[in-house]
Amino acid sequence: MKIERVEAKTFSYITNQSRDTDGHSHPGPDSPATTAILTITCDDGTSGHVIARPGDVEENLLKAFVRPVLVGADPMGHEAIWQGLYKWQRGSAAKLTDRVLCAVDLALWDLIGKACGQPVWKLLGGYRDKILAYGSTMCGDDLKGGLATPDDYARFAEWLVNVRGYKAVKLHGWMPPVPGAPDVRKDYAACAAVREALGPDIPLMLDPNHWYSRTDSLWLCQRLEELNYFWIEEMMEEASMSSYQWLTSKTPRLNICGPESMTGKHWTRAEWAANGACDMLRTGVWDVGGIGPAMKTAKMAESFHMSCEVHGTGAGNMAVVAAIPNTNFYERGLLHPFVDYDQPRQYQNRIDDEMDADGYVHFSQAPGLGQDLNLAYIEANLV
Ligand code: MG
Repeated sequence: MKIERVEAKTFSYITNQSRDTDGHSHPGPDSPATTAILTITCDDGTSGHVIARPGDVEENLLKAFVRPVLVGADPMGHEAIWQGLYKWQRGSAAKLTDRVLCAVDLALWDLIGKACGQPVWKLLGGYRDKILAYGSTMCGDDLKGGLATPDDYARFAEWLVNVRGYKAVKLHGWMPPVPGAPDVRKDYAACAAVREALGPDIPLMLDPNHWYSRTDSLWLCQRLEELNYFWIEEMMEEASMSSYQWLTSKTPRLNICGPESMTGKHWTRAEWAANGACDMLRTGVWDVGGIGPAMKTAKMAESFHMSCEVHGTGAGNMAVVAAIPNTNFYERGLLHPFVDYDQPRQYQNRIDDEMDADGYVHFSQAPGLGQDLNLAYIEANLV
């Protein structure tokens, strides 16, 4: 079995979500958007797919870096393929990003699962067939009835828990360019309102503005200790590991979770664990360059008796949380009062992460990553 083709196609769909100038998603009017599908095909016709941002699977990247490593290779040698791409990153003039590595790795794992007739999460370890999700809100906004006030967060959190069935909630605070953001005291007010609305026991987490100072971060963390929050993540620029060591040493009753967006894959995460810069490690397939380095992070965390909390949604991250013992939740979102998260996008027959009324996401028994894509829609809407 040998890889024969690697191809990406860009297609259009309609969405009611748009990104602000800092890249955060908010609800808006229905408008056209584009995304892409990356497909790896073998000589026996077996293929694997993943949905990716068009910029991560551009033809010039596939031609220069991806096809030279993949075409002719045995797809079961996923580590050799990943290492081949990784070693090329240094000489690629920063063009071969971790997100490109991730897109290739996910499509390859989808192919491997289909070739083996097994879901990827079972090939990786098969630790569990379901997991509790936490409802992960969008960032705050200034939309009437949206997430504009601490009370808006409280009412939405009540809906998430009491109506939709979530057993845990994570807030994203207000971030620029939303007017008035960032404001550490307003972030705290939203956290307090949600704790007040949901009672003392439900696990709550916070992902605030990412550029607070040490003193603002410490002030917020000490308030969250009083509110019995479970973890906080990325409240400061993560490139400063010593700032996180300092904060972790001063917040014994709040878990510091990280790093999320810091570069350096599993190596950076090993440094954070070894240097006491966090209580819980963070990984995510799109942050660290695929399932391979995400699994290395999780196993390294287990070796330090640490949990590894997986960042982000989608089939690739689901495969990781299903495979490992040392994680608490699956991150489901981003959620907002104006967005129907349970509705498939036009290019999906089914969303990746359907959740039952008790707050559990169940892992697909289908071979591959478990994405149920509407390939006819994609072919009919190519850009
Ligand atoms: Mg985060």
